[in-house]
Amino acid sequence: MKLSTKIIIALIVGLVVGLVLNLTALDLFQHLNTYLFTPLGKIFLNLINMLVVPIVFFSIVLGTAGLGDPKKLGRIGVKTISYFLITTCIAIIIGIALAYVFEPGHAGDFDTENASFEAKEAPPVSETLLNIIPKNPVQAFVEGNMLQIITFSIFVGFALTMLGEKTKGLLKIVEQGNEVMMYLVNVIMKFAPYGAFGLIASAVGSQGIDAVKAMGLYMFVVLLALVVHMLFTYGSSIYILAKRNPFTFFKDFSPAMSVAFSTSSSNATLPVSMNVAQTKLKVPEHISSFVQPLGATINMDGTAIMQGVATIFIAQAYGLDLTFTQLVTVVLTAVLASIGTAGVPGVGLIMLAMVLKSVNLPVEGIALIIGIDRLLDMARTAVNITGDAACAVIVTETEKKHAAKEMTA
Ligand code: ASP
Repeated sequence: MKLSTKIIIALIVGLVVGLVLNLTALDLFQHLNTYLFTPLGKIFLNLINMLVVPIVFFSIVLGTAGLGDPKKLGRIGVKTISYFLITTCIAIIIGIALAYVFEPGHAGDFDTENASFEAKEAPPVSETLLNIIPKNPVQAFVEGNMLQIITFSIFVGFALTMLGEKTKGLLKIVEQGNEVMMYLVNVIMKFAPYGAFGLIASAVGSQGIDAVKAMGLYMFVVLLALVVHMLFTYGSSIYILAKRNPFTFFKDFSPAMSVAFSTSSSNATLPVSMNVAQTKLKVPEHISSFVQPLGATINMDGTAIMQGVATIFIAQAYGLDLTFTQLVTVVLTAVLASIGTAGVPGVGLIMLAMVLKSVNLPVEGIALIIGIDRLLDMARTAVNITGDAACAVIVTETEKKHAAKEMTA
């Protein structure tokens, strides 16, 4: 049986087991959760997280060095960042529009009086952006600060290109390091079905079904917006810009999506999504190595969708109206908030505080959606990493065209 089939079966079994235990035997669930589901999930998460920092380093150094000339690096950089920003804006607009159509915040009596949420101070985005240059790269590695690791790796890769022959040995070592990591990804993925099962059973079992019922319409709107964005934005851009069949793209990339779905972490999924992009989507290593780690860190369309829907939901639940200017502010801050969101579970919700504050909506409103966020986090993370892969495919195809043009010129 193929690994992706195994993971999908594990997800379904985990879902059913979690749901049934939640409804019939909550005590039994608690025991199983402590001794079986959580440990299975945790082992899997740790195994893949173990590879993230070295993979980001090796692959970005290699990717940057592989691009060779700095002009190419610039061109790919501009394409990548433009795609990230534009699709994130579209994502938020889809989320906001659907929230206005379905009005999830008017769909029930939400206890806004007693809602309380301690907003942890999210670091201001300006600080995150300024801090992308690490003062101490070793510290960046120790802390797993992705943006800083990426910056440092781009510098190293650039130097390796410029120094050419002189540093051939080091480049070879980085190449081999990368091989080792990719090999380990394949080994670890053998455990993925068990990890996925544990993670899903734990998440579904501990989310009371009542919470899901009360928040049904909000969940529906977020999920609908995620699907619309996948099919419309990614589908059409894959079709138009990369001239590939979108359905083949989704099908080929599905193993990575299922890992994102079970881990709720773009970072943790990175090793798998790069592997799938390189082997199944035929994205050259140097493009995948550059686009995907960057995307896993700053490109979060699924998160942006949730933030858009949640903002309108909270405004509606509190009976507040937003002006057009405020809506534009929401779009802009949600772009920044999604860039600032780290690719780990649940951070999107914390960054939502920043969006709410920008238009003076009550941050306590987050308490209304926190109960079901764990489940939505799974779905939005799958979208987050799909956007990165879509970008990698588009860069691949447009670069091919560029190369062909240069040949004939
Ligand atoms: N879990 C998401 C990710 O890793 C981030 C978030 O929205 O909380 O992509």
